Amino acid sequence: MAKSPRAEPFQLGDVSVAPGTRERVQLDVGTYLTSESLRLAVHVLHGRRPGPVTLVTAAIHGDETNGTEIVRRLLRERRLKRLAGTLLAIPIVNRPGFVTRSRYMPDRRDLNRLFPGSPTGSLGSRLAKVLIDEVVKRADVVIDLHTGAVNRPNLPQLRISPGRSAELELARVFAPPVILAGEPREGTFRHACRALGKTCLLYEAGEALRLDTPAIRFGVQGVLSVLRQLQMLRGKSPIRRLPLVCSRSFWERAPAGGIFTPLVSLGRAVEAGTQLGFVADPHGTGDTPVLASRPGLLIGRTNDAAADEGDGLFHLASLEGIDQAESRIARTAENLPSAHDDEDDHPVPYDSLNDTI
Ligand SMILES: [Zn+2]
Repeated sequence: MAKSPRAEPFQLGDVSVAPGTRERVQLDVGTYLTSESLRLAVHVLHGRRPGPVTLVTAAIHGDETNGTEIVRRLLRERRLKRLAGTLLAIPIVNRPGFVTRSRYMPDRRDLNRLFPGSPTGSLGSRLAKVLIDEVVKRADVVIDLHTGAVNRPNLPQLRISPGRSAELELARVFAPPVILAGEPREGTFRHACRALGKTCLLYEAGEALRLDTPAIRFGVQGVLSVLRQLQMLRGKSPIRRLPLVCSRSFWERAPAGGIFTPLVSLGRAVEAGTQLGFVADPHGTGDTPVLASRPGLLIGRTNDAAADEGDGLFHLASLEGIDQAESRIARTAENLPSAHDDEDDHPVPYDSLNDTI
């Protein structure tokens, strides 16, 4: 029998990682005000057999802890011992933000607006540059992990670029309930990855600073499914139903200021005119309903009790112009993380979806 080919060592920074081994490589970025070094820690899992390079990044926004937990669980997967190709995993991109539980860099800049970065710019800009030049350029596929903001959980969802069949194919394999195909904003990591021709999936799930166990499990399984599809891992992915693919989303905002009560859970599909919640005058003079202006699938929601007029309350994927939306939504119900998976952790905001249709 012919011997299968063996991979060459993988070079990252000044470290050479032998086939069949793993290393944590520290890349120098710059110096803090304390004169300590800011480094980017990259886990390199280099398979014995050659194959593609997949990069998984988390906590570009320092308070988006679910992504870090997904990478942590991924790194403990025993099946990665039989990896083909190379998995690069960064549990914390924005280390200063992670330490201070902040979305931002210490100078209050949003790292996810500084890509592709500059070697002579701010610390965030230098961090962006190191990530792009030394890591992303080595990768074929990038999976970037995010969450909603504090008190604003997101339904597990993937963001991809329109017209990129490789991204759509991998996103379907990942199989979240919904895929949003939209242009990335300039300055974002996804925009920079796309400019380099990388296949990039952005996973959004849960909210900042709060572990959402079903969304985390779903993310780990999604990444493993992508690795199987790329033939970096052997075996079959669990059969999941086709996700709903949407090209637009919209917000329903507070029609008045007051105490906000939501009435609809994440994952629920609604018709135009459905009451999503209400805002009540604290002085007791009346309630103002919040209505869906168009048909949509609820992909994000605020859990804040207080709302000023105009605050974004509900984020919906637009179902306008989507063929056979109802049957597709019915199928997405089977893709949702189950609240029953989470009895040992904490309650999750997903609708059971029994009343979706
Ligand atoms: Zn984010």
